[in-house]
Amino acid sequence: MLMARIIMWFRRDLRLTDHGALSAAAAYAEVVPLFVVDPLFTRRAGGPRRTFMADALAALGRDMGERLVYRHGDPVDVVPQFAAEVGADAVYVSRDFGPYGHRRDAAVAARLGVDGRALRGIGTPYAVEPGRVTKSDGSPYAVFTPFLKAWLASGWTRPLDSEEVRWVGAPDIRSDGPPQRPTDLSDVTPSSERDTLAAWDQFVATRLDFYDSARDQPALDGTSRMSAALRWGIVHPRSLLAELQPLRAHDVFRSELGWREFYADVLFRHPTSAWQNLQPKLDLMPVDSGPLARDRFIAWQSGRTGYPIVDAGMRQLSATGWMHNRVRMIVASFLVKDLHLPWQWGARHFLQHLIDGDLASNSHGWQWVAGSGTDASPYFRIFNPTSQSERFDAAGDYIRRWVPELASLDSRTIHQPSQLRPDAYPAPIVNHAAERLEALRRYKAVTAAAR
Ligand SMILES: Cc1cc2nc3c(=O)[nH]c(=O)nc-3n(C[C@H](O)[C@H](O)[C@H](O)COP(=O)(O)OP(=O)(O)OC[C@H]3O[C@@H](n4cnc5c(N)ncnc54)[C@H](O)[C@@H]3O)c2cc1C
Repeated sequence: MLMARIIMWFRRDLRLTDHGALSAAAAYAEVVPLFVVDPLFTRRAGGPRRTFMADALAALGRDMGERLVYRHGDPVDVVPQFAAEVGADAVYVSRDFGPYGHRRDAAVAARLGVDGRALRGIGTPYAVEPGRVTKSDGSPYAVFTPFLKAWLASGWTRPLDSEEVRWVGAPDIRSDGPPQRPTDLSDVTPSSERDTLAAWDQFVATRLDFYDSARDQPALDGTSRMSAALRWGIVHPRSLLAELQPLRAHDVFRSELGWREFYADVLFRHPTSAWQNLQPKLDLMPVDSGPLARDRFIAWQSGRTGYPIVDAGMRQLSATGWMHNRVRMIVASFLVKDLHLPWQWGARHFLQHLIDGDLASNSHGWQWVAGSGTDASPYFRIFNPTSQSERFDAAGDYIRRWVPELASLDSRTIHQPSQLRPDAYPAPIVNHAAERLEALRRYKAVTAAAR
């Protein structure tokens, strides 16, 4: 009897283990591995992000004996054509819950259906599928803590066993070749499944037990650096959760993964919150525009605001495609509350450059800072970049690493923009104390208008 043939269309699941859709396909069919290089992604993503994806795909290809088939183009055209070309019985995917992925998959399924083929979605990039966690009356949670409680109570499966896979792919099936690798990444985050799992094991063995105290200090290697692997599905969160113990530091780590799941749930239920305020009241907030606003935005993007901690973060992002969480909050607050620019400008820049750039975590991370999202950190809580820097980078080592022109300054002076005058370093582009009052003035006007 002829064996069934299934296309495994990889997207945000670039791994071979703990993979529901792949195991389901391999259990009864030969598997054709496909990755579609979507021009929409290539147009929008910046260098580090595209490079990381290319590296993750190269590693995936190696792990399957270079069988991975690349096709370039709009998946809505490419996938049905490819399925017909290779005589596939069905196309398997891990389900995508983002607004674009959702629309794309519906269109691909409709086109496949015309030829009598199915798009089968099995598994998701989450421990609990977005939309699953609800209050007892079936309505969604709007704030994190009760969501976390219900998410923990709902539980999740253990990591899945892997099936032996019979690959049918390149070079027997034509491949358009891998996507470009436009830049080099310094400070490399592992992009292969093996290196990611080794990095995770190392984190568990040496740093996880101290995560709760070290995670807020950007100069330390205190966090897992798993975000890009989670974004691209090089590892499934189930595999990480399975190793956590009932210890305080582990609980904190578990709840951070819970934030990722919460934001995916919120975006799934409110797709427009990708780029619009979740709380419409904030639509009335006046934001700056014009040439000065543009110049300030450029200074922010290029790490030349004159605020060392902000500049260090933005330069870490440009150089590595990653930024420490505490610093993401500081630079985001600076953009929204010191420069009075729309959070969407910052979110777009982040999404373009972050190797872990994820629509749900990014837009809602920004909305949290801007006070327009869930759990709104109140708008009037305004980060002071200097005191944040003194508190979380007390010795100044993070600044020294990313702003080398300040490296010779002592740990007291390095945080203080007004006391710095090295030739190569810019004067502060705004005065935080004055801009804080301006942000509060605008917020009060909005609150009064909304009443
Ligand atoms: C303005 C802003 C934008 C952000 N954009 C993104 C983004 O595009 N992609 C992204 O993955 N994270 C984003 N985050 C969340 C967080 O900064 C990163 O997940 C974290 O820094 C990644 O480093 P890590 O893997 O070492 O994290 P760890 O501290 O080791 O945490 C483990 C995992 O938990 C998840 N996680 C941790 N904190 C958060 C959080 N606040 N929200 C959602 N998930 C979290 C991540 O998957 C992370 O890998 C953003 C945060 C802010 C404030």
